Amino acid sequence: MCDVVGKALNQVPEASRRRFLSGAGAMAALSGLALAGCSTPEANSSQTSASASDGGGGNTRTSLVLLGTAGGPTVLTDERFGVATAVTYEDRVYLVDLGHGSHMNLIRAGLGGEGFGGTSMARIRGIFFTHLHSDHIVEWPAVYATAGMNSVGRTIDGPIEVFGPGDRGSLVRVFPPNRAEPPVFNPDDPTPGISGMTSYLRQAFAADFNDRARDSNFESPDATFNVQDLDISSLWTVDPEGVPPRLTAPIEVWEDDDVKITATLVDHRPTAPAFAYRFDTPDGSVVISGDTGVSANLIDLAQGCDYLVHEVIDPQFAEDLAAVLPPEIAPAVKEHLLISHTTIEQVGRDVAEPAGAKNLVLSHLVPGNNPDSRWEEARKGYSGNLIVGKDLMRFGVGAKA
Ligand SMILES: [Zn+2]
Ligand SMILES: [Zn+2]
Repeated sequence: MCDVVGKALNQVPEASRRRFLSGAGAMAALSGLALAGCSTPEANSSQTSASASDGGGGNTRTSLVLLGTAGGPTVLTDERFGVATAVTYEDRVYLVDLGHGSHMNLIRAGLGGEGFGGTSMARIRGIFFTHLHSDHIVEWPAVYATAGMNSVGRTIDGPIEVFGPGDRGSLVRVFPPNRAEPPVFNPDDPTPGISGMTSYLRQAFAADFNDRARDSNFESPDATFNVQDLDISSLWTVDPEGVPPRLTAPIEVWEDDDVKITATLVDHRPTAPAFAYRFDTPDGSVVISGDTGVSANLIDLAQGCDYLVHEVIDPQFAEDLAAVLPPEIAPAVKEHLLISHTTIEQVGRDVAEPAGAKNLVLSHLVPGNNPDSRWEEARKGYSGNLIVGKDLMRFGVGAKA
């Protein structure tokens, strides 16, 4: 979910804000964090086996694991962790986004290394960031800064390959358009991409890195990670509106032996570039949408996939939020939320169905406290299998080993 909601709420008179936040539903809705649903690994594992009957669930060479299913940066409950998704192939783990708590849920999901020294990064092969909103990257600083300790016992050869958006090269337009332009953060470098952000982390953690290098001979995190901006220069020069072009072919990201990773540009306007990723293994395919409105590029990328993990927003949330916002911004915020995200009514009928996705897994839920029955309305117009995502759900892809 976009930071625009938090910004907008800051403009709500205190009394209204308290009234809005006092509603448990609205409170969780704001955060995208669920009050409903299970969070314990034990409880989730039972749900997982129930929901994984479509894909086999158990011992498969390729799997999809939901590490966090909350949308939005506000943390109000521990019922859902911030958005993060894992695709595993044999002993390798590929991560898409690192929302709040994803590092911890990686361990809870059993995706860390084994035995003494079996650390959180021991099996990670790649990390793929969909876009640079804080709810998708907030745990990257923690993962980067602790790489020396958390990659002990690493069983995967080579560095962890990290991919994400580059510098967009233009600031987002001011919204609504008649508003005065706000001050620019870091004006000499206002839109760093993932490699630029990581350079700042290297500076920010210099005291710790120097301590450990000199005292304990720890290597730089750059020995663990190979951070790369996805080059889209031949496809698009991002402008302040951030509406991506229609692509005629997927973006080739990486072919790691049997695992092929491609991407496309999705429509999270004005935030750009924003990517969806597709993982193809000999066992099947998983597509992860990132944050987007209905995107023809995404529908192309997801054609015939086994699992489509897609973001979703309840339009009633946008209505509820607009009802407590000052009238001069309410319609604009509502419109923005509905354009930059995909509604319950759209995600099955307008995305998963034309993509021919066999399974649609809803994640990045906004609001997270909706009853499952509300999310299940996404079934309307979708002939595949709908799954309301919960943290630590695991889905087997392909035949059992
Ligand atoms: Zn988000
Ligand atoms: Zn976003």
